[in-house]
Amino acid sequence: MKASAFNYARATSVVNALELLVAHGDKAKVLSGGQSLMPAMNLRLISPELIVDIGEIAELRGIAVRGGALIIGALTRHVDLLKSPEVAAHAPLLTEAIAHVAHPAIRNRGTIGGSLAHADPASELPACMIALNATIIVRSQIGERRIAAGDFFTGVYETVLSAQELLIAVELPVARKSSVHFFHEFARRHGDYAIAGLAAQAIVLGDVFTDLRMVLFAVGDRPVLARSAEKLIDVVVTPALLSDASAALGEELDPPEDQQASASMRRHLAKVLLARCVSTLLGRPDLDVGGSV
Ligand code: FAD
Repeated sequence: MKASAFNYARATSVVNALELLVAHGDKAKVLSGGQSLMPAMNLRLISPELIVDIGEIAELRGIAVRGGALIIGALTRHVDLLKSPEVAAHAPLLTEAIAHVAHPAIRNRGTIGGSLAHADPASELPACMIALNATIIVRSQIGERRIAAGDFFTGVYETVLSAQELLIAVELPVARKSSVHFFHEFARRHGDYAIAGLAAQAIVLGDVFTDLRMVLFAVGDRPVLARSAEKLIDVVVTPALLSDASAALGEELDPPEDQQASASMRRHLAKVLLARCVSTLLGRPDLDVGGSV
């Protein structure tokens, strides 16, 4: 199938892109890497009247470290994140996760802004943004909004972005020296969307978590920051405590059922991920009691 006929405008600046978005409202769609937008148009799941191509706006591209924050422009491609020494040094969770996003051909075009705006609940980057406590920066003609990643995703392919707003950049606090991370996903093949996945960032002092942000993906309509994991902070984790946290996680999740997995399989995989994450980050193989896959 081919996309319905549409008009095309190449935005010359952020100001120009915002003018186009205001003039055309929800009949317009922003084009970044096109790796999600074009398949959706070709399948006629969406038929925008105007495509606003922001691909040439240089100010939206790039990675910088400023004042204790890693700032990543919306047009920064997955491949740029994967190869960035700044990302590897200050947000190594992201470097590890990005290797699981699709395949090189898609990573060469797909962008961080596109991935976050698209808000696929099985995507790796939205979960990482919440685990890393990122701020998502969006701009409209009225001004700039800074949105905590945890408040950004509202449902399957849904965010708080309005049709008149552009995602500009993300800002991540640089990882503290004592911080550790964990990333794992279950997928049919490497590069496929996950059936269940977990991105986590933590601080471990001695054998205790003093901070733990565990975010599950592909197990709900948006990434889920596991509240049940908070039970594991500031205490010595015992198998019994981990088992409590695992049961609470099962209650907390409401996973979808589809051709890939039942809800109960996703819930089981989430518990396996929780146990692996805790056991890996604390260096305690005795805690990896989440069961087999
Ligand atoms: P586009 O396709 O250009 O845009 C996506 C959506 O976001 C559109 O609605 C667009 O209007 C909007 N948008 C884009 N940029 C902005 C902006 N700056 N401000 C406001 N709105 C904006 N992704 C994964 O996470 N994991 C995977 O395993 C994975 N596998 C894939 C496999 C295949 C075969 C394909 C085709 C894609 C896969 N993807 C996967 C998706 C890929 O990562 C996309 O690149 C990404 O989701 C969208 O980024 P993009 O730059 O291509 O955005």
